[in-house]
Formats: sequence, C-alpha cells, structure tokens
Amino acid sequence: MVALFNGRDGEWQAEIVEAGKRGGTLRCVNQSALLQMPPDLWLIFAPIKKARTDFIVEKATEMGAARILPVMTEYTNAGRVQVDRLQAHAVEAAEQCGGTYVPRVEAPVKFRVLMDQWAPERRIMFCDEALAGASGRLPEVRGPWAILIGPEGGFSDAERTRLHKADYADAVTLGPRILRADTAAVAAMTLWQQSLGDWA
Ligand code: SAM
Repeated sequence: MVALFNGRDGEWQAEIVEAGKRGGTLRCVNQSALLQMPPDLWLIFAPIKKARTDFIVEKATEMGAARILPVMTEYTNAGRVQVDRLQAHAVEAAEQCGGTYVPRVEAPVKFRVLMDQWAPERRIMFCDEALAGASGRLPEVRGPWAILIGPEGGFSDAERTRLHKADYADAVTLGPRILRADTAAVAAMTLWQQSLGDWA
C-alpha cells in the first residue's frame, strides 16, 4: 500500500495495480485523512540564495502557508527563481509533516506590480527591519493576511514609504536583532500563527 494526496481530496491508501518503468496504476482503497486546509495566510518573500530560498518554501509549507509568492524588490539580488523546483520542495515538505495541502508557489512578480494589484481586503504583515528594537504588535484583525519579508539588502526607502502609506499594511518588528530573511520568515509565521492562525 502507498499513501496518496493531491492537495484537494485528503489522503488515500492505495494499492499498486501495475508498476512499469514509465508509469503505473494505483487503486485508491480508503481515505486515511481528510483534507486539512491551512489558514488564509500567504507568504510573500524576496528570493535570496538558492538553498535559503528552498528553506523558506519548505518552512512556509510546514508552518501552514496557503500560498507562496516570490517578489522582486529593488534590492533583490537572487538569480533565476525555479518555480517548479520550489513547488517540488513544497510537496516534499507537505509529505514530511503529514500535511494534505500543498501551497501553490507562484511565479515571481515585481514589487510595484504586486502593490498595484493588491486587493486591500487582505492585510499585509509588513516585516520592517527599520523597526528592529521598536515596540509594536500585530493587530488582532482576523481574516485574510499575507506576511511580507524583504531581501538581504532590506526594503528601499520608496518601498518602505509605499508600504507605510497603505491602509492594509501593518508594519511590525521581529525584535531587536536584524534577522536573516529565512529566519525572519519563520519568526513572522510563528508570530502570526500564534495570535491569528490555527495555533491560536
Ligand atoms: N540589510 C537589512 C538591514 O541591515 O537592515 C536587513 C534585511 S533582513 C536580512 C531581511 C528581511 O527580514 C527584512 O527586509 C525584513 O523583512 C525581515 N527582518 C529581519 N529582521 C527584522 C526585524 N528585527 N524586524 C522586522 N523585520 C525583520
């Protein structure tokens, strides 16, 4: 028997009917877990080095992101983003943590385009390194959210100004130390899950 999941129908135990070098046939026998949807939380992050970007996608899946969006900011200096590879990492991470849902990894989008097209019903938890050491909390507003993590070089002044002006964005601090982007992604998801997500 093998366990199958496709991100829509929960997990199923299946038996192998036929196995060949190029493909095979499985028969679903019984459902072993229901589909468990994550909270309505997206992770938006500026890609960094390959291994660390892989880490962000893996941890975002484990932590319960519903969608993962790479964003190209002014100071993003990553090479080509291989969305298929990242999607495969999300599948592996879901398998590893017993999840039945796989977040979709989107193609990278420019920061300006992301902001121009943003639907304001979804709040943005804007992790602003310029607030390191300041006080401030995530507002207790339920509903759809996205976490935004900048690149190694941080946000540009123009990006920061635009985010601070947006009514739907809440600038937050992740403590007194400047964290690496991959650490910041995990820390921000922990904070959000603890106060507004499915840990709360
Ligand atoms: N080069 C930037 C600097 O020295 O100020 C640091 C950028 S940091 C490596 C990458 C991203 O992690 C930031 O853009 C921000 O989104 C997040 N981040 C890291 N530490 C943070 C903190 N203490 N508070 C809020 N966000 C933080």
